[in-house]
Amino acid sequence: MRLEEVPCNLCGGTSRSVVLEANCPGSSLSPEVFACTNSHVASHGRIVRCNDCGLVFTSPRPTADEVLDMYEGVEDETYLREEAARVATFRHSLLGVRQREPRGRLLDVGCYVGTFLEVARESGYEVAGVEPSRWAAEHARVRGFEVLPSLREADLPPGSFDVATVWDVIEHLTDPLGELRLLHRALRPGALVALTTMNVESLVARLLGPRWPWYMMMHLYYFTPKTMSRMLERAGFEVEGVEPHVRVVHARYLVSKLGAWAPALGGVAAALTEALGAGDVRVPISLGDLMVVYARAR
Ligand SMILES: [Zn+2]
Repeated sequence: MRLEEVPCNLCGGTSRSVVLEANCPGSSLSPEVFACTNSHVASHGRIVRCNDCGLVFTSPRPTADEVLDMYEGVEDETYLREEAARVATFRHSLLGVRQREPRGRLLDVGCYVGTFLEVARESGYEVAGVEPSRWAAEHARVRGFEVLPSLREADLPPGSFDVATVWDVIEHLTDPLGELRLLHRALRPGALVALTTMNVESLVARLLGPRWPWYMMMHLYYFTPKTMSRMLERAGFEVEGVEPHVRVVHARYLVSKLGAWAPALGGVAAALTEALGAGDVRVPISLGDLMVVYARAR
């Protein structure tokens, strides 16, 4: 795998400081590492901060073509097994969207197997998705959804959508600013964008330092409320609000993530959870290190 140094995606700057050195060799990258449910937490490339604008990102990193190849090849049966737990989070996320834009045509960028499309369609939106993984897009199409492989190839007529959702996707893209600009073109003026990503400046991220589980090979960008807002503004959006993002998970899922991070603790927690018959309990969690950002197309 070839790695390349990249300029700052937000300001184009090339002066940066190292936040964390790489602890995962580039040669170990494979589509499996990029699967949504992979457990390769806390292994990452070199993470740097732009000295000009403060954007935190991975550099060097695989080329854009290599990253796209990996996402196109992702297959993820684990995601399908755990889908029910995600539905609860998506229903919660949809509430924030509906309060701001209760109807219309909705584009879900990174729709994967169509889990959120299903939730949004049930709620009355006309929906379409964008998804590079051939495996995931096929699952979504079988469920009756229109799925485009990428915004660039789709070349949508300007003003095609009233709402766009970008859930846990922006940090995976090689050119987030470019994608947001393409998205802006596909939206009508005044359209809503709702986006979730991690907050690298959050208290939890700062307390855990290198052990923060979101430092992962597949995350190319680590935003703060400020850098995310500035990027949206550069792409033609006006930011309406930044809030902590709430996820709703099964206790069993929470415990399996704990196990990947701290195996001994995870083992005890898993045994306890099953003994109590609590694996299916839904738990709303917010550690404050994930954020949801609402913005409007200008
Ligand atoms: Zn910069």
